[in-house]
Amino acid sequence: MSISQLAKQIKESPTLKLNEEALLMKERGEPVINMSAGQPTNKAPITAILGTAAKLKTAEMKYTPVDGTRSLKKAIIRYTEENYDRLPAPENVIVSTGAKQSIFNALFTILNPQDEVVILAPYWVSYPEMVKMCYGVPVIVTPEDGTFHPRFEEIEQVVGSYTKAIIVNSPNNPSGMMYSESLIADIVAFCEQRGIYLIMDDIYHKLVFDGRQHVPGYRYTDRDIDDSHIILINGVSKLYGMTGTRIGWAIANRKLVEVMTNVQSQITSSPPTISQAAAEGALTGMQSIVEHLRLTIQNNRDVILDEMRSFTDVHVPRPDGTFYCMADLRAYTQDSVELANFLLRKALVVTVPGREFGMEGYLRLTYSGAAKEIIEAVERMKWALDPNSPNEIYIGDRKIVRDWM
Ligand code: PMP
Repeated sequence: MSISQLAKQIKESPTLKLNEEALLMKERGEPVINMSAGQPTNKAPITAILGTAAKLKTAEMKYTPVDGTRSLKKAIIRYTEENYDRLPAPENVIVSTGAKQSIFNALFTILNPQDEVVILAPYWVSYPEMVKMCYGVPVIVTPEDGTFHPRFEEIEQVVGSYTKAIIVNSPNNPSGMMYSESLIADIVAFCEQRGIYLIMDDIYHKLVFDGRQHVPGYRYTDRDIDDSHIILINGVSKLYGMTGTRIGWAIANRKLVEVMTNVQSQITSSPPTISQAAAEGALTGMQSIVEHLRLTIQNNRDVILDEMRSFTDVHVPRPDGTFYCMADLRAYTQDSVELANFLLRKALVVTVPGREFGMEGYLRLTYSGAAKEIIEAVERMKWALDPNSPNEIYIGDRKIVRDWM
């Protein structure tokens, strides 16, 4: 079978794969705990359901405009005004089938073969693969000081004549880290001045803890959206617990949006009609649901940090937001893939190996589920790895004795 050179290079999404594996194990009745999911567990907001139901009732299941329905775009414009203090025109907005498509679309629209895109480690697994799918070259910046926060100089150093874009995701998947205001300010100023696109993936921007505030990139440019190099990405997946709705969007200068719309028209046409109604319902309904989710997740973050504290030689940098953290397990092994497999087999806990995010020796743990499950998952991980933990445990209704150390 003949497969293209490019397609052969593309890795499967490890997070989606692990999620499927966990679902299958659950279906088989195994007491698996999934700490790998990239989604909150809450139900969709009622206004999303009502919006969907109203659309369904019309029995109109037709294409919409490629860049999204007028009414959803209106809701996105209002959302942007409220949260970013910028008023985009409808021509600055393109709705896509998930933020994932928005990002891919943006990359496809701006990259020539061999153009470079700067990605900050640890990074969301899809960025480098998407860049490669557009014949671009991912350039990874890994903070030299061992933290999850790069210094501006480290970014500046790798920028050259081939650099077309920088991707910033803050708060960050997988570390939960939020970049400092001064770093964001420096990157925005740099990109605007050098004419480099700045893709700001703000998909977690309201899931920020401890009274801190997300730093919007627009704050540091006085340019109009039409003159700016910022491409702002958002969506309903993470803030409203609507990952399966598959609606995300990009805000950018209208020339770019025009081409992105052409690109999208040749790939998926319009985003799904029903999903757009659902997203509109979420954006125009009571926003207290997002705050409620944020508080629940903040509490979960405290629970997991507390539990991990007694895990011998394991360090977890405190997340500022999202529903992920990165646990440093290098005291146990450098091979995070082997470790994740070991934990799955022995402890029935699904984690994501740090290698996938450019941080070997770490595991990404999701804490968006029930606090009780988080506590149990960490207990199981300790039992499997930490010689100072009791060597017997109940997994489901089976008592298991640790016999490998
Ligand atoms: N960006 C980041 C950083 C993400 O973590 C995800 C989802 N895992 C996405 C984008 C994609 O979101 P969507 O479901 O809207 O495609």
